Amino acid sequence: MLRPPLKQIVHRAAHWRCPNCGRGRLFRGVFRMLPSCPECGLSYFPEQGYYVGAMIINYVATTAVVVAIFLFSLLFRDFTALSTNSKILLWMAFAIVLSLSLMRHAYSFWLGIDFWIKPRQPDVSTMEKF
Ligand SMILES: [Zn+2]
Repeated sequence: MLRPPLKQIVHRAAHWRCPNCGRGRLFRGVFRMLPSCPECGLSYFPEQGYYVGAMIINYVATTAVVVAIFLFSLLFRDFTALSTNSKILLWMAFAIVLSLSLMRHAYSFWLGIDFWIKPRQPDVSTMEKF
């Protein structure tokens, strides 16, 4: 199968759309991913443990942002005046919220990049109706 252009894949991933057709959405709810594309039938779960890479991307992105903002926050005296427990609670809450907000992007980009590296045909026989 012909490899799609990377720019197209990135555009589709940024809009949470199917990497194959660009029309089907990836998510049903806030965090629930569809099993396959409702438009072309491309499976979003080609194998077990497929999204471990997306979780790693999410973890690395969250850690990088938290560390960068933490280092930046050291410049402000008001923040450093807080107690250690307060700071830990704030950073934990921020990391959790950030991680949840990046989850959809991480899953979408993981699916897109994997599809770009290993393009595959949709299996129409297993296509579900939505
Ligand atoms: Zn599709």
